[in-house]
Amino acid sequence: MHKILISACFLGENVRYNAVVKTLQHDTLNKWRKESRLIMVCPEVVGGLTTPRAPAEYIQQQNKIITSTGDDVTNAFNLGAQQALSLCQKHQINFALLKESSPSCGSNTIYDGSFTQTKIAGEGLTTQLLRTNNIRVYSENNLSELIDIINYSKTYTIVDEN
Ligand code: SF4
Repeated sequence: MHKILISACFLGENVRYNAVVKTLQHDTLNKWRKESRLIMVCPEVVGGLTTPRAPAEYIQQQNKIITSTGDDVTNAFNLGAQQALSLCQKHQINFALLKESSPSCGSNTIYDGSFTQTKIAGEGLTTQLLRTNNIRVYSENNLSELIDIINYSKTYTIVDEN
């Protein structure tokens, strides 16, 4: 049975930078949770950051994560990414469902580093590390694709062609 790494904030954990809880409601997630398939992580919290915390954005040109107050928190973000990867390795996880646009968890978009709510194409640091290690990362925007793959793989073995 495939397990899935999931952003802790999707499951209603109080881990978001602004301490506002935003649960992702979905029947399949409830089912997977009951089946003990979901392994949750908040890379920023396991990387050592507190809740609440200053918002941070990824400066792609410098490969750094900087907070709105100017602090460099790249090390904490990298540590959190490593912890997320370790969880995947421990539980033999090949799939992750992570929150879009986060500087850790984003898989298609991130904020551009200007703190003006501007999104650009890009990946958060955790997503980058997971994908480098052949873990498939999905977001709330393509959850239906992940559900299809998990349902399909109940019957068939997935061959990774990468
Ligand atoms: Fe959610 Fe990921 Fe941000 Fe943690 S780092 S609050 S899991 S989006």
